[in-house]
Amino acid sequence: MPEGKEKNHPIQNIRGVGPKIADTLSNLGIYQVEDAVFHLPYKYEDRTNLTPIGDAPYETPLLVEGEIVKSTVVFRGRRMLITEIFDGTGRLTMRMFHFAFAQHKNLKEGHRIRCFGTIRHGPKGKEMIHPQYQVFSKDEEVEIEDHLTPIYPSTSNLQQGRLRKLIQGSIIYCQKNNLLKENWETEDEGGFKDLLSALTFIHNPPTETSLELLSSGQHPAQRKLIKEELVAHILCSGMLKRETELRKSPLMQSASRQENLLLGSLGFELTNAQTRVWDEIKQDFEKETPMRRLLQGDVGSGKTVIAALATLQASDNSLQTAFMCPTEILAEQHYENMTQWFTDLGIKVDLLLGSTKAKDRKRILSDLQSGKTQVLLGTHALFQKDVIFKSVGLTIIDEQHRFGVHQRFTLLEKGGDKEKSPHQLIMTATPIPRTLSMTVYGALDTSIIDELPPGRRPVETTSRPNSMRSKVIKRIEEVCLDGQRVYWVCTLIEDSDELEAQAAEELFKEISKEVPKVKTGLVHGRLKKEEKDKVINRFRKGDIQLLVCTTVIEVGVDVPEATLMIIENPERLGLAQLHQLRGRVGRKADTDSHCLLLFREPLSELAKERISTMENTNDGFVIAEKDLELRGGGDIHGLRQSGLMNLKIANPIRDSDLLESAQQEALLIAKTNELQARSLINRWIGARLDYSDS
Ligand code: ADP
Ligand code: MG
Repeated sequence: MPEGKEKNHPIQNIRGVGPKIADTLSNLGIYQVEDAVFHLPYKYEDRTNLTPIGDAPYETPLLVEGEIVKSTVVFRGRRMLITEIFDGTGRLTMRMFHFAFAQHKNLKEGHRIRCFGTIRHGPKGKEMIHPQYQVFSKDEEVEIEDHLTPIYPSTSNLQQGRLRKLIQGSIIYCQKNNLLKENWETEDEGGFKDLLSALTFIHNPPTETSLELLSSGQHPAQRKLIKEELVAHILCSGMLKRETELRKSPLMQSASRQENLLLGSLGFELTNAQTRVWDEIKQDFEKETPMRRLLQGDVGSGKTVIAALATLQASDNSLQTAFMCPTEILAEQHYENMTQWFTDLGIKVDLLLGSTKAKDRKRILSDLQSGKTQVLLGTHALFQKDVIFKSVGLTIIDEQHRFGVHQRFTLLEKGGDKEKSPHQLIMTATPIPRTLSMTVYGALDTSIIDELPPGRRPVETTSRPNSMRSKVIKRIEEVCLDGQRVYWVCTLIEDSDELEAQAAEELFKEISKEVPKVKTGLVHGRLKKEEKDKVINRFRKGDIQLLVCTTVIEVGVDVPEATLMIIENPERLGLAQLHQLRGRVGRKADTDSHCLLLFREPLSELAKERISTMENTNDGFVIAEKDLELRGGGDIHGLRQSGLMNLKIANPIRDSDLLESAQQEALLIAKTNELQARSLINRWIGARLDYSDS
């Protein structure tokens, strides 16, 4: 547990939570009972009404119930389980691509089934694909939910139902133990007397609550929490800023002697934007207070080489660099680049991952502590306590959005000297509006690379319905046999890694069968690191021409020879994520690249608009704005994933009307109640502090 946390109510105090499930919960940042209560739903479903199948509209989530008429496994290009249901008013087909034998067995003819899902047009009329369902015998009485059903961000091996129960248990625990009862707010619009009553409502809204209000984050219970979260982030950001101002930076004033050598070896010239940004960083290095700079640049704009230049200057001043990446794939890729760039310059680079073997790890840590290694790259493995630098001068965080404010902070502590603090460079492809970065975003200076390297052609994006799949596969064959390389991205089936991986495996089989001449590889999140590496490296070298993958490929992978990307079911992804994915192609000068969005019909209005935005622009900033606009309210989960910030409930764009009063509250609390400030920060941000120990 994080030190200084006064509360101690481990989640295992809740009935039914043993060490194993506690371990699973830690993946969600849940360690304490309070963390569970702060694990908030990202959407709600209304399962309080049964809709007759005959009247049921398309494309709206709803609950139906009927008798199982027939259930069979069929092959239609792929294996699927088809279940026919009749309720007296109409017929419905339930179609599933991923299922276990036991599931099939359980769907007995004559039993009743209750399904929650969205009805689509299928070959035989109304159908639901992978609905949530419940089977019971004919005369069994099963109650219908009497509250709206909250849906939570979850992790593999943890069912929604289990998570829901556990959170309800945690709420009751808090009531009994008088937790979360304080009310710091001066005025209260919603009549929620304390935090716990607002939280209880959010986890359990009565049927009559407006779904619209809830999904746009406008319910008073939500607003209460949103404001508190904003206050906590503003407080935290102010705290970080004050801490920084009190510290001295490590001396990095002398310009790098080797800069020209590195620049000469790149094989390209820096763009004007890169040169400008590098100048801004060099000016920061001259100052006595440490740099806190956010480097924004669209995918492919060339942020890595800027990081390399900064690293070089640190090393020339006898200081080490800690370079952190959100995924192992990305860390390895940077490691390869840096090794290539730095070895001739006599600079030693090392790589530390969660999966690094104990023996290697020992060697790496000892070289780091003795100063033999100048640059250490890695994932969050770098946060661990025993990772000790001799003298770290610079920390770099790539694709910042996967890390929270506190992780940045922990990394700064690696300097080992309370008076001093290393320079910090944070790189991101997510455009962050300036007002935001000033208020709630940790008070960073900003640099922007607003220009792509020369010769880049915009990725031409088109969309096709899934009915044209075989044509698409044909085209892939041509492209691959022509020596180019192709990504085929298989997107989320549900909120589950497991299913996503399964879907990718099936696609891989399908494609290998249809285009046997093309060498095809597969990567997904469930593969072991060595296997992933092997496949990606073969793709890089061209031994594999077609890479079937999941969204694990999203962040930073750089294979310039890849010129075509197929994104399957793009309608499931947000704009920011689609744009990130597409950024994997179009990286080679003077070469045309394409992105093909292979969607499943019918498309919702929102999905249509997203897809047409992708077809019409390649500009990351335009896309980010459109993304926020389309989300309007609602999709907090998506926003969190796109990573604008590490927020649980607030959406600083949507909730901007609360920013001013939150800022005033924060100011007041910071001045008058230090203890309160700390406890707010702990509550909203602190739970993520202990990443390193977990
Ligand atoms: P990102 O900003 O997305 O991290 P990268 O740093 O991975 O982008 O750069 C993308 C590609 O562009 C790399 O292959 C890199 O070598 C190349 N690149 C970077 N800067 C330039 C430049 N000025 N001219 C030509 N190519 C460049
Ligand atoms: Mg990058």
